[in-house]
Amino acid sequence: MTRQVTILGSTGSVGQATLDLLRRAPEGQYSVTALTAHSNLDALCAQAREFRPRFVAIGDERLHGALKAALAGTGIETGAGAKALCEAAALDADWTMAAIVGAAGLPPTLEAVRRGKTVAFANKEALVCAGTLFMRTAAEAGTCLLPVDSEHNAIFQALAGQSMDQVRRIILTASGGPFRQSSRDAMARASREDALAHPTWSMGAKISIDSATMMNKGLEIIEACHLFDLPPARVDVLVHPESIVHGLVEYVDSGLLAQMGSPDMRIPIAHALAWPERLATSVERLDLAALGRLTFQAPDEGRFPALSLARQAMEEGQAACILLNAANEIAVEAFLNGQIGFLDIAARVSDALDWLVHSPFSGHPVSSFEDVFEIDTAAREETRRQIGLQAAE
Ligand code: NAD
Ligand code: MG
Repeated sequence: MTRQVTILGSTGSVGQATLDLLRRAPEGQYSVTALTAHSNLDALCAQAREFRPRFVAIGDERLHGALKAALAGTGIETGAGAKALCEAAALDADWTMAAIVGAAGLPPTLEAVRRGKTVAFANKEALVCAGTLFMRTAAEAGTCLLPVDSEHNAIFQALAGQSMDQVRRIILTASGGPFRQSSRDAMARASREDALAHPTWSMGAKISIDSATMMNKGLEIIEACHLFDLPPARVDVLVHPESIVHGLVEYVDSGLLAQMGSPDMRIPIAHALAWPERLATSVERLDLAALGRLTFQAPDEGRFPALSLARQAMEEGQAACILLNAANEIAVEAFLNGQIGFLDIAARVSDALDWLVHSPFSGHPVSSFEDVFEIDTAAREETRRQIGLQAAE
């Protein structure tokens, strides 16, 4: 039977990798229901013409006229703005890829989660922000949430259906990013290009900067705690520059199971796409003999404070996690725009966590998605103010 597939964030790195798998899948196995993008009109239209979805949505409302004009005569319905992204997610696809970057992905991802089908989950910021509320919504809807982030997908596979009381801890591997061996002084001077030059993975700009600060691993610790229902003390990080072993599970008998593969997102995406079966791909196979050796080292939390900031946020609670993520998104954008230096990113996130104590949100539980959006908005404004940027329009 043909599976109906929707991709939220189809023009991004994960979105394109997903479409590449669909392009090569056996005829008739998948068909596309909806595609969404933020502002890359040309790429979205080219994808729509190739994959013939029922509906395409563009986040930037000013582009709706151009989108309609470009797809005139194709019979493809179009929409624009935040509401249209949610409409795309609400259509009756069997499988949805949640691959929007940032907390902006939370509303459409939630819409997909509420439908109780399968959601392949890449948009880690949404889970960092909404935490247990998100997991509860998925459980109540009976949604099958499949981790796509390579580490979490590896752990999902290595768990092999065993119950969590058989697990001592899980280990997320990290490449260490472009500054794995750099001094703090060198990091202070790092340019946008230096920080974007990831040694092993090819990814979108935001996650590439997060990998350079190691905030990506920090967000992934929080993501793992929610996906696998573990406290942060049972989620470890191991630097592994080759990015071949993606994640490990240590069981109570002290045995470990690991998942390995080339650093190519099409492997975890293919796993989620075909689960519980497997999809044949043409992704580069591992030649372990040619690689010869794999290396591992402990992370340096002194040079990469983002790791301990994420653990601190997870201990402090949901409001702190929302702040961590929001401040990081604003600071990464400011770094990419040349407005702050590389080391300022973690410094601004640290300030945001300090600000929480004096903010109106201190000590308040986060009990609804409205609370999440309110704290997210306030944290963004506060971080913009601290950086000296104008408030958002
Ligand atoms: P990307 O920047 O390449 O693409 C992001 C996608 O989201 C694009 O389609 C863009 O149009 C859309 N988008 C951006 N802002 C939006 C907004 N405000 N509203 C609606 N849509 C918006 O990002 P990516 O590298 O593909 O990452 C996507 C998500 O997957 C992130 O959460 C990232 O952390 C996660 N992830 C990515 C990789 C990877 O290899 N790229 C690996 C693991 C996890
Ligand atoms: Mg990852």
